[in-house]
Amino acid sequence: MKNLVNLTCVVLLSLCTWQFLSSKDNSWSNGFNHSFGCQGCSTDDIANMYKGYIDEWKTSIAKSFNDAETKVFNKSPNPDIVGPDPDPKKCVCKGSGIIVQGDGHKTPCPYHGKGDILNLIIK
Ligand SMILES: [Zn+2]
Repeated sequence: MKNLVNLTCVVLLSLCTWQFLSSKDNSWSNGFNHSFGCQGCSTDDIANMYKGYIDEWKTSIAKSFNDAETKVFNKSPNPDIVGPDPDPKKCVCKGSGIIVQGDGHKTPCPYHGKGDILNLIIK
């Protein structure tokens, strides 16, 4: 009986050691950069594969968060903070070229502002 227990322990220890050593060659154990079975693909290649989905995912995730906030807090979420945008109608400066910050100081819009980069802060 004692020999059977010893043999079982040796077998289990061997299996655990084999599993540990063989898992080091598993690409899934190397963090995010597992190349999705595509040998030689860089992280940029992988990111570009999903480029077309990202805006769709962002919209879906934002809607989910807004829905959850409405259900949990029983109030509508605040609208997203808007920022500079190449389209003057969507830009926070509304095409004026000057962005009024929360504390009241003004900065030039990166898309519609005028002047050189040394005059970034306008009083
Ligand atoms: Zn602007």
